[in-house]
Amino acid sequence: MGAQCAAVVQRRRLQPFHAAARDDSGAARAPPPRTTEGALAATTGDPQLPLVTQLEGGDKADTFVTSAGVVQDVEEEDARFDYLGETTEGNLHFVQRLKRAGVVNLFGLESLEGIVTTDLESLQGAVQEVLDCLDVPPDYSTSRPDRAIYCSRTLNLRSIKCIGFDLDYTLIHYDVDAWEGRAYEYGVEALRQLGVPVEGLRFDSSLVIRGLIMDKELGNLIKVDRFGLVKRAMHGTHMMGWQDIREAYGREVVNLRNEGRWVFLNTLFSISEAVLFCQLVDRLDQGAFSFGAGGGPGGSQLTYQGLYRMVAKALYRTHVEGKLKGEIIKDPSRFVELDPDMARTLLDQRDSGKMMLLITNSDYQYTSTLMAYAYDRFLPDGMTWRDLFDMVIVMARKPDFFSYNMSLYEVVTEDGLMRPVLAAKRGGLYCGGSARMVEKALGVEGDDILYVGDHIYTDAALAKINFRWRTALILRELEEEVDALARGRPHRAKLKELMAKKV
Ligand SMILES: [Mg+2]
Repeated sequence: MGAQCAAVVQRRRLQPFHAAARDDSGAARAPPPRTTEGALAATTGDPQLPLVTQLEGGDKADTFVTSAGVVQDVEEEDARFDYLGETTEGNLHFVQRLKRAGVVNLFGLESLEGIVTTDLESLQGAVQEVLDCLDVPPDYSTSRPDRAIYCSRTLNLRSIKCIGFDLDYTLIHYDVDAWEGRAYEYGVEALRQLGVPVEGLRFDSSLVIRGLIMDKELGNLIKVDRFGLVKRAMHGTHMMGWQDIREAYGREVVNLRNEGRWVFLNTLFSISEAVLFCQLVDRLDQGAFSFGAGGGPGGSQLTYQGLYRMVAKALYRTHVEGKLKGEIIKDPSRFVELDPDMARTLLDQRDSGKMMLLITNSDYQYTSTLMAYAYDRFLPDGMTWRDLFDMVIVMARKPDFFSYNMSLYEVVTEDGLMRPVLAAKRGGLYCGGSARMVEKALGVEGDDILYVGDHIYTDAALAKINFRWRTALILRELEEEVDALARGRPHRAKLKELMAKKV
């Protein structure tokens, strides 16, 4: 994942403009400037006037002089403005400073209004020339589309007062093969002890993806469209043809409320269970179960439903997760993927005045160990992950957290000792409680809050349905798809060109 990182990079690439406006004096620095390629001069209409000049031999290589004054590299934490000159802290005073300083001339404009009235293509060209001259990396969302944020509807971040995060697979990213592969091994071992034919089975994460649905009755894995109609299906590990799908499902609408038949794969944690189920459906079909043909446990024929129950029991989430988390705490480096951009992003959001929340079902010891491992190293000296959040809630018991008012405890010691409390306060570390309690404690409600998580139902659907919180879903699976789309851009352009020629 990494969707949250766009803002940071955008800020980084534009910090020279911020620095320019900070220097209201407009004074240039010695030693005398050396003119760069001159590309920018053309945008002003006055080829004699070098607008961007790089200083050589100064104490900072990234120091420039523009018609607006000295532009120099600044520390990340000092750069708080986006490329439109708008501060992320909620007002527009920087635009006025830009106007006063005359930076608009850099783009060949006569006034700030020119940003609206000039045709887009020339403006983009001028902007690109400035960026090239300043050696700023290309547009981030174009060069790293897998790191961009995508919206399915309008979201004005200025109106968001509070951003909440889930922990597992949201703030902490695991190596799916390592984590789910280990869970799978636990499951296989438990089944082996029951006499299930698991020899030679290997974890294959490419077999299954989140968002698919297990059909426990027919031993299939299906993909449905938005209307609930089955579009593609796999029996065991084999894709089904169109005719087979039609015979099995026809116009049947999959109703996920029928939990006796369907299991929706909500999280990456469901992957190991689905992989094992599919592989064992193959074995059951091949008659590999010695007690399958002659009578399963209790003397009955083993059905796909029975097989699913066995797999689910062997991979009983709480049990397996408990074991796995014990291993992870001992050696996080085996499972956790570090990402410095994550810490920067949270700092960026915190510095822009948002209240920050962490709401996780994991316990305190686990949360604390993993957050310290993945974040403290990327934070400024003396700062820890706790300083990022206005409130931390562990063992939140989502989805109930979004539906009921549960008892609230305050975590009072580093080893996780708790005491009951009646109300939460900003700055606290709690266990349990409810979404209602968070709203009351922080004085926010409904769409003041953006909640970011990876669980399609709990994190995204319930928070929205019950509390009208705005929601963002982390979809790692889309990274490859988005990347492929970006790489296919020239082909699509060519196709468009050819289609235009078609008579
Ligand atoms: Mg999660």
